[in-house]
Amino acid sequence: MAARAPRGYGRPAVLKAVPALLLLLLASCAGSPQPAPSGGASTAPAAPAPPSSKAMDAGVPPPLPGDPLSQGLSAPVEVKRLDFRGGEPQVPIRLMEGRPGVTFSPRGRMRLRFGGPDDKVLEAPAGSVWKVRVTQGEPAVLTARVQLGEFRFSDKAGLAEEQQQWQARGLSTRVQVLGSLYGIAGKVIDNRRYLLLLDEALSPKDAAARQAELLRQFGARTTLFEEVRTPAHGILEVRDAAGSVVGLAQDTLMAETLDASGFDVRQVEYHVGYENHGFEDRSYRGALQLIVDRSGMLAVVNVVKLEDLLKGLVPSEIYARAHMEALKAQAVTARGEVLAKVGTKHLADPYLLCSEQHCAVYQGRSGEAASTTAAVEATRGEALFSKDGRLVDSVYSAVCGGHTENNEVVWGGPPDPSLRGQPDLLQPSSQWPTPANLEAFLAAAELPAACQLSSFARPNKFRWEKHFTAAQVNAFTESLGVGPVQAMKLSERGVSGRARVLTISGEQGATQIRGELNIRKLFGMLNSSMALVEPTRDAEGRVAGWVFRGGGWGHGVGMCQTGAIGRAEAGQRYREILRHYYNGAEVAPIY
Ligand SMILES: [Zn+2]
Ligand SMILES: [Zn+2]
Repeated sequence: MAARAPRGYGRPAVLKAVPALLLLLLASCAGSPQPAPSGGASTAPAAPAPPSSKAMDAGVPPPLPGDPLSQGLSAPVEVKRLDFRGGEPQVPIRLMEGRPGVTFSPRGRMRLRFGGPDDKVLEAPAGSVWKVRVTQGEPAVLTARVQLGEFRFSDKAGLAEEQQQWQARGLSTRVQVLGSLYGIAGKVIDNRRYLLLLDEALSPKDAAARQAELLRQFGARTTLFEEVRTPAHGILEVRDAAGSVVGLAQDTLMAETLDASGFDVRQVEYHVGYENHGFEDRSYRGALQLIVDRSGMLAVVNVVKLEDLLKGLVPSEIYARAHMEALKAQAVTARGEVLAKVGTKHLADPYLLCSEQHCAVYQGRSGEAASTTAAVEATRGEALFSKDGRLVDSVYSAVCGGHTENNEVVWGGPPDPSLRGQPDLLQPSSQWPTPANLEAFLAAAELPAACQLSSFARPNKFRWEKHFTAAQVNAFTESLGVGPVQAMKLSERGVSGRARVLTISGEQGATQIRGELNIRKLFGMLNSSMALVEPTRDAEGRVAGWVFRGGGWGHGVGMCQTGAIGRAEAGQRYREILRHYYNGAEVAPIY
């Protein structure tokens, strides 16, 4: 690799000394050791890595002596985390990747830092146009392990049980800790989790084959856990509007505007892999990092302050026209979701989050709305903490249907004290039926539910019916091998009436589908599993079809978004709304 050091050429006159500011910027976007966790092992990659993926303080606790799980607990991988030392952290979020190049334009005076041994810097005026492309790109070499399961840090029991199950099948496993523990402003942000991995380091191709084998052999659906063995490399070539090459950089380039006005990026690719996939010119706050991605192509990364990130992200999660107090509640939950995700995804990529559904739909300044920006600013630095001072897993769904659900009913694992199902009624009274009598609850037309009375309520999401023909249901269930379906029953319901188990009996046998999401998916994504199902019959009494009568839209755990709007319209403030949906949790600032 020694021969790869790039040399800037073309117009040396525009290249100036590196200001300390940029060094700081690079350092801060890389994440840094935190004062909070004690005894964290520290690790550093042997090979040079892009700033955002360099290993920092691991934040991984040492295995407890005598802890059965400590056997097979693997060495910490690179830990990606935020740097809170300056207060508000910066978040490197991917705008696009796998591109041959990109065209962008600074909105204020720009400094473009080439890095490398010469530390060259190019300055350019607002509105100037620049093109960057990758040459000599070499993909990263990855090691992949099959990921058998993921567990919350409190769910040691679930982990141990799953581990034993795989060991009983004769397979050797290892446990990987992911995420970090931060102590900030007297609060604890802990997004650590356990991964249960198959203890076989494979090439990504072999790992995919192993996954197929596990599916065939045990019916187990798995994911892949990837680590970088050799980082990707490439030369980034920078051209001006006239097409002249003005500089080259090894692997990565950082572009910043001196007045923090940000950048316009041409033809940003979005919704990759979805039907509405497209390209659009977009505008972003913060800095741009151009970096060689895992495939040896170009990734465009926006290094943006957390609050500015939220301004471009909250409008994708709630109607900008909704009541301000509901927007504030959404801004606080969105901040919590980002804090919970950082460092647990994209471990083998040179950024912390992507700007798609997978992490957080983010459109930068182009997606901002005045109302949601005001809500982010009014709640600056605020997140939601449980009574014992831990960051709440601030999940939410669109419409709870009149009652929210307990986390363990939907996702399994141990109960979370902040995620207890609650009635979502604006006038609680014993006169109303409860989900314990689901038929009456679903039929109660006048239920004063916050998600029914909200001006954003959608009647067909609060209560709904879904009809299928017998042929449709038989097609959905064909792979289950039970033959034409004769009976279906939803059971093991949680406090909101959401079912955990669907029993299907057919002419050739019976089986059970377990899990709220699996039940919904089986029927092409039912609105929710808060439903009753019964057959419709023809004149001869044969099953002609099936009707689901249900309530709610989404998993129903945590905040009911439509209900939050209803509560705001009824005069509740955002802190009160959040306290209701997260079982007494309180809003507190972390910077
Ligand atoms: Zn992602
Ligand atoms: Zn609701």
